[in-house]
Amino acid sequence: MLWLAAYVLLVLAPMAFVLVAPDAARRSGLTNASDGIGFSALAMLALQLVLPARLRLFTRPFGVDVLLRFHRLIGGCALALAVLHVVLLMADDPGRLALLNPVTAPWRARAGVVATGALALLVALSLWRRPLRMPYEAWRGSHLLLGVLVVAAALGHVVGVGGYLGLGAVQASVAALAVLGAGAVFALRVARPFAAAGRPYQVEQVTPERGGATTLRLRAVGHGGVPFRPGQFAWLKTAGSPYALEEHPFSFASSAARPAQVELTVKAVGDFTTGVRALEPGSRVLLDGPHGSFSPARPDAAYVLVAGGIGITPVMSLLRTFADERDPRSLVLVYASRRWEDVTFREELDDLAGRLDLRVVHVLSDPPEGWPGERGRVEARLLARVLPADVRERNAFVCGPPPLVVATVEALRELGVPAEQVHAERFADV
Ligand SMILES: Cc1cc2nc3c(=O)[nH]c(=O)nc-3n(C[C@H](O)[C@H](O)[C@H](O)COP(=O)(O)OP(=O)(O)OC[C@H]3O[C@@H](n4cnc5c(N)ncnc54)[C@H](O)[C@@H]3O)c2cc1C
Repeated sequence: MLWLAAYVLLVLAPMAFVLVAPDAARRSGLTNASDGIGFSALAMLALQLVLPARLRLFTRPFGVDVLLRFHRLIGGCALALAVLHVVLLMADDPGRLALLNPVTAPWRARAGVVATGALALLVALSLWRRPLRMPYEAWRGSHLLLGVLVVAAALGHVVGVGGYLGLGAVQASVAALAVLGAGAVFALRVARPFAAAGRPYQVEQVTPERGGATTLRLRAVGHGGVPFRPGQFAWLKTAGSPYALEEHPFSFASSAARPAQVELTVKAVGDFTTGVRALEPGSRVLLDGPHGSFSPARPDAAYVLVAGGIGITPVMSLLRTFADERDPRSLVLVYASRRWEDVTFREELDDLAGRLDLRVVHVLSDPPEGWPGERGRVEARLLARVLPADVRERNAFVCGPPPLVVATVEALRELGVPAEQVHAERFADV
C-alpha cells in the first residue's frame, strides 16, 4: 500500500506545477487542467519504463508478473490522460486544432503528436498482438522502441513548450523523469545482460521428457551458481550477444540446494521452445534471474500443490528441494495432464512419493479406457473431494494455464484457505 501511495503521489505531484506557475492566473481553467493532466501523463510514462526493468527493489515484494499487469493497466491510463490533455486544449480554443497539422505545426506540437500517436500504436499492438498474428519477439522489440520514443517525444514536447520550465522545481522534476526513464532502460538492456554475461552456464545434458518437454541441465561456469528459491524463474538466452532481445522465462525445476547445477524443463509450444532440444552439450547459455516472489506464508506448514501441464516445473523444484532436505512435512499434489503417456515427470513423481510424505492425484482430461483415477478438469468439486481436511492450515502453490489457476484459486477460497497462503503462478506473458 505504501508503494502504491508513493506511486500515486509521484504521478499526481506534477499537477501542482500548474498551480505554482507564476502565470497560472492568466491561463484559462481548462488549459491549466489540461497542462496538469499532461504533466501527470509524462510522469506515468517515465515510470512505465521503470516497472518492467526487473529492479529487485520492486520484483522482490511484488513479483514480475504483478508489476507487468500494473504496467499494462497504467499504459491504458496514460494514453487516456494524454488524449484528455489534447482534447481539453482544443476544447478551450478550437484555433489550436492547427497544432495538429504536421506540415505547419511548430516542432513542439509535432513532438506531442508523435508521443500520443506512438503511445496509441503501442497500446493497440499490446492489446491485439495475437489477432494481428504478430510474433512475440517482433512485438517485444517494437514495444521497447515505441516506449522509448513515446517518453523521448513527450519530454521534447515539454521542453519545446517551455512555459513551466522557468520554475526550478519543474526543471528538476523533468530532468529527474528523463534520468529515471533512461536509467531504467540502461539497467534492463545493458547492465543486466552485462551481469548475466559474467555468470555463464554450460549445457551439460539435454533430456527428452514425456509431454513434448525437454530438460536442460546447466552447469555454472566459473561461479557457484545463483541461489534461488523453488517457485522462482529466470530468463534464458541461448544464442548470440548477451544484449540480444530474444530471451524466454522458465521456472527452475531443479533442487534449490544445488544452484551450481540447475535444470529447466521446457515444453515445445513455439520456435524457441522447440529449438532447445537441438542445443548441443557444451554450448554456452545465459540466465537472468532469479525472479519471482514466492515465499510461503507459513514456512513450516504442509502444502497443497496444484499443477497443470508444464506448470509442474516449479512444483518439481519444491519437491526435489524437500527431498534433498529430507523434509518430513505432508504434501498433496493435484496434477492435471491431458493423457497418461504425456504426464511429464510421471516416474520421478512415483519415486518422490516413496521418499517424501507425498500423495499425488493425477487428473486426466483424456484418460485411457479403464482409468481408475480422477478425470476431467481441475475444479471446485474435484478439489473439495481430493484435498485433505486440514487444507485451511496449508500453504497452497498453484501453477499452470490461466483457466486452471483461476478455477483453483477460487476453489481454495471457497474451501476457506486464507488468501495470503495461496500463491498462484501463471505462465502468461512477462
Ligand atoms: C514466469 C514464467 C515461467 C515459465 N516457466 C516455464 C517452464 O518452466 N517451462 C516451460 O515450458 N514454459 C515456461 N513458461 C512459458 C514459456 O516462457 C513460453 O512457453 C515460451 O517463452 C514460448 O516461446 P516460443 O518462442 O517457443 O513460443 P512462441 O510461439 O514465440 O510463443 C508462444 C507464446 O508464449 C509467450 N511467449 C513467447 N516468448 C515469450 C517471452 N520471451 N516471455 C514471455 N512469454 C513469451 C507468448 O504469449 C507467445 O504468444 C514460463 C512463462 C513464465 C511467464
